[in-house]
Amino acid sequence: KFDRTPLIAGNWKMNMDHVQGITLLQKLAWTLSDARHDYSRTEVAVFPPFTDLRGTQTLVRGDDLKIVYGGQDLSQFDSGAYTGDISGQFLAKLGCSYVLVGHSERRTIHGESDELLNAKVKAAYRHSLVPVLCVGEGLEVRQAGNHVAHTLEQVRADLAGLAADDAARLVIAYEPVWAIGTGEVAGPLDAQEMCAAIRAEIADLYDDATAAGVRLLYGGSVKAANAASILKERDVDGLLVGGASLDAAEFANIVRFEH
Ligand code: PEP
Repeated sequence: KFDRTPLIAGNWKMNMDHVQGITLLQKLAWTLSDARHDYSRTEVAVFPPFTDLRGTQTLVRGDDLKIVYGGQDLSQFDSGAYTGDISGQFLAKLGCSYVLVGHSERRTIHGESDELLNAKVKAAYRHSLVPVLCVGEGLEVRQAGNHVAHTLEQVRADLAGLAADDAARLVIAYEPVWAIGTGEVAGPLDAQEMCAAIRAEIADLYDDATAAGVRLLYGGSVKAANAASILKERDVDGLLVGGASLDAAEFANIVRFEH
């Protein structure tokens, strides 16, 4: 675990216009710069709406902030007649390091299939973006006890045909759908069970070295109050935070728990 750089990521979803986004980032930078805490070991990432990315780039560069950022989605194509879509090359040009792929809200609301998400994962790598692939089961699947099989099936389908050196840089976020935005948190042992199963699956698909490189995050109603207990788990390398990432002090506190 300690060879992998911890990643604490904030998914702003469709919140924060370009003015509010700048204010939030400035507050976050100010809170994180508090000399009493050392965040140097942890990578802090934000995923603002597309319209905030230019402002984010300007602020991060101008103030030399140690915050990285990414888009919340990308097209499987690089350019062309795809009205409303955003290419990975546009994200790369705006300084994005990461891109979310397959968030449950995209899978459900936009009906994104594993076949499409596999194409999006590959599109991200074409533009040197690291995908943060989101996987996880709904409540009925969990209640039926099929959560591990279901989630591993998503992992296999979404990574089909991916080269080992790309896979080793991947970030996978386990986000049980029943825990997203509901206040219902998976227990640390649930997060660990799934992250260990995903790592074993990557070892099966590739090899142990690749599996050891992949960073696995937990996401679903994470707050400062529950972050520490989840981060203690062996295979959990970080967190993907939705609602609580919109509050700079709360998000900074979550970052602090990695230490
Ligand atoms: C998310 O959007 O990825 C998420 C985990 O949301 P929340 O933290 O609000 O449950």
